[in-house]
Amino acid sequence: MKVLVIEDSAEIQEAISLTFELHWPESSVIAASEGSSGIALTESESPDIIILDLGLPDMDGFKVIKEIRNFSDIPVIILTVREEEIDKVRGLELGADDYIVKPFSHMELLARTRAVLRRSHIPELKGTEEPLVTSKLSIDFATRAVMRGDKQIKLTPTEFNLLHYLARNEGKVLTHRALLEKVWGEEYTDSSEYLKVYIQRLRDKLEDDPSDPKILISERGVGYKFVKPLT
Ligand code: CA
Repeated sequence: MKVLVIEDSAEIQEAISLTFELHWPESSVIAASEGSSGIALTESESPDIIILDLGLPDMDGFKVIKEIRNFSDIPVIILTVREEEIDKVRGLELGADDYIVKPFSHMELLARTRAVLRRSHIPELKGTEEPLVTSKLSIDFATRAVMRGDKQIKLTPTEFNLLHYLARNEGKVLTHRALLEKVWGEEYTDSSEYLKVYIQRLRDKLEDDPSDPKILISERGVGYKFVKPLT
C-alpha cells in the first residue's frame, strides 16, 4: 500500500511516515512539500491513497484536489485545522473522500485511512441483482454502470454505493444514520455532512434539475428516499 503525503510541514510529514512505518508494515510512504510536486508524484507513482494538507506554499490544497480529480479517482484525505469547519464541506464537494482535523492522533489517521480504503474498494461483481431500467435512468448493479438517458454517468465508488443502497430500497425513507452506517461505516453515523455533500453530487449527476430533485428526495430531518423515474 503506497501513501503519498502532500504536506509542507516537515514535522507532520515525519509523524505521518512514522505512523505508517510502525503500525502498517506493508505500507510505504512518499512525500511532497508542495502542491505541484504532489500532483506530479500522483501521476508518476500511482499511490493508493493521498493525505493532503490544505495550506501549501505554492498552491491552495483545494486546487490540488481539483487537478488530481481531472485525471484520477484515487482516495484523498485532507488535513484541515479546527477553526475551518467550512473547509471540510468544501473539500468533500471537490472530491476529497474524508478529512482529518489537526492535531490528530496516530490512531485516527490509521482509522480514517482504513475506512477510506474500505469504501473505495470495489466489491466483486455479483451477477444476481436485477438492473433498474427506465428511459431516464438505468442502473446495472452487477457491472456498476449507470446511464442517464443514453449517456453513461461516471460515479465514484462511494457515490455508487450510496445510490445502490437507496435504489435497492426504492420508495422507502432511509434515515441519515442508516445511510451513514451502511455506506461510510459505523464510526460515521453522526457525520451528516458527508451525506449532504454526496446526495448533492448524485443529484448533480442524475437529476434533470438538481435544485428540484425528483429521484433523490429529502425527508427533512429524517433521511432520503429514492423514487424511480416513471418514464
Ligand atoms: Ca501547511
